[in-house]
Amino acid sequence: MTDPHAAVALQRKLDRLFAGFRDWCVLWGLARLARDTTIEFTGSLNDALGQCDLRAGRITLNAVLLHSANEGLLHETLCHEAAHLVAHVRYGVGIAEHGPEWQQFMRRAGFPPRAVIPRSRVTGLDRD
Ligand SMILES: [Zn+2]
Repeated sequence: MTDPHAAVALQRKLDRLFAGFRDWCVLWGLARLARDTTIEFTGSLNDALGQCDLRAGRITLNAVLLHSANEGLLHETLCHEAAHLVAHVRYGVGIAEHGPEWQQFMRRAGFPPRAVIPRSRVTGLDRD
């Protein structure tokens, strides 16, 4: 059976994550993004830590980010994908994926605007 302490710890982790997400959306002047975005976890993203469906308003995160050692990366990855959404809403389709528009939203949320997180930084990711 599921460890109840683990379930509580997971719920608190997700509460912190979603509270951070709502804060970034307010900071970006797009509070409705927090309501309009679906966030889900999957174990089948292969190497990617996250991906974002701009049309559907859906962010998919690699379940490896739920590992306790990855909490900082969990927040950064959600912010990374959410910054794609807000850049899309604000600037449309003609911008570079990790260009200055995307970067400014990352900086405003307090994260370095790095396009790729080195695999070696991620605990629990399969390495070849
Ligand atoms: Zn990206």
